[in-house]
Amino acid sequence: MKMIVVFCQQENVNLHRVGLELLGKAAELAKEIDTKVTAVTIGKEIDCLATTLIQYGADKVVLVQNELLEIYNADLYTKALHEVVEKEKPEILLIGATQLGRELGPRLAARLKTGLTADCTQLEIDKESKLLLMTRPAFGGNLMATIVCPNHRPQMATVRPGVFELKAPNLSRTGEVVEYVPSIRWEDARIVVEDFFEKIKEDVDISQAQVIVSGGRGIGSAEGFEKLRKLADLLGGTVAGSRAAVDNGWIEKDRQVGQTGKVVRPKLYIAVGISGAIQHLAGINESTYIVAINKDADAPIMKVADLGIVGDWRPIVNELIKQLSKKAKAEDGYEVVRL
Ligand SMILES: Cc1cc2nc3c(=O)[nH]c(=O)nc-3n(C[C@H](O)[C@H](O)[C@H](O)COP(=O)(O)OP(=O)(O)OC[C@H]3O[C@@H](n4cnc5c(N)ncnc54)[C@H](O)[C@@H]3O)c2cc1C
Repeated sequence: MKMIVVFCQQENVNLHRVGLELLGKAAELAKEIDTKVTAVTIGKEIDCLATTLIQYGADKVVLVQNELLEIYNADLYTKALHEVVEKEKPEILLIGATQLGRELGPRLAARLKTGLTADCTQLEIDKESKLLLMTRPAFGGNLMATIVCPNHRPQMATVRPGVFELKAPNLSRTGEVVEYVPSIRWEDARIVVEDFFEKIKEDVDISQAQVIVSGGRGIGSAEGFEKLRKLADLLGGTVAGSRAAVDNGWIEKDRQVGQTGKVVRPKLYIAVGISGAIQHLAGINESTYIVAINKDADAPIMKVADLGIVGDWRPIVNELIKQLSKKAKAEDGYEVVRL
């Protein structure tokens, strides 16, 4: 059976959302090539994850378990996943482009002697050849390239979190669960993790936010971003920025939107002082409603915006803050204005 395998990352027995997003997409692709979806997850004592993986689209779950796999180690994970892929021989292998996935994918592709299309933004099956069409931005995002892997297997792709929608789980789905014990030893690891320090997490993952107020070079300073934060708070949302804003140190890299930042899919995206370069637009295509505030009526962002407000951002944002604060007070007790 030429199945589709999705590597589903877990950490502390919590599944990373991107694996579940990919399972939903894999289920769609599987229908077109008349095959099944296998989820592979790696760790220690992770049996409890199997049900969730099936509910999100896996027909079969392979639990790769070993006490050496409790904490991620690139060498051990690569060897373990390589063994499973050699055994299952999938037609397609999908991996989330998390930090871990970006490290694991190329290592695995090299061992399997196949190609890897990184950071895909679309996956489709070619109607005639039944090959996987892997689309991603190329040449600095100036064009979209569709890549095929006709002569080697599996056809491998990584996809960033948020690119595909998270489908609702089907609680009545059933599937097969198998355990695989890989033949790994400590000696296989060239790097040994001696201690672990947990990074203080950002308060929100922008790829999951429903409302985003995003600032660009036009904001001019870190203080300007404080105003945007205030507006975002009033809207029950979060703040983000363009690469220019990140490069200027006005906002953290975790909050960069775009091709080399994060893909977002909020209900409302307010772009303030952002020109709308193609690399920025690559991250906001899935937004439901885009508002652009820019002093240049011809800025490219105006072409994709549902609503464009032309002018200096400061009085416009100040007025929005004023009106929303009034509304919040009037609704007595409600701090957040729901759109
Ligand atoms: C390989 C590659 C990857 C990239 N990845 C990303 C990415 O992930 N994300 C990203 O954002 N960019 C990315 N870029 C950079 C991208 O090409 C642009 O340079 C960047 O998006 C520009 O940011 P900006 O819109 O904030 O700045 P600018 O393009 O300088 O635009 C500033 C805007 O602010 C407006 N403005 C100025 N003053 C005011 C004011 N007072 N009030 C209202 N409006 C005002 C101006 O009219 C202008 O439209 C990438 C580039 C490359 C080559």
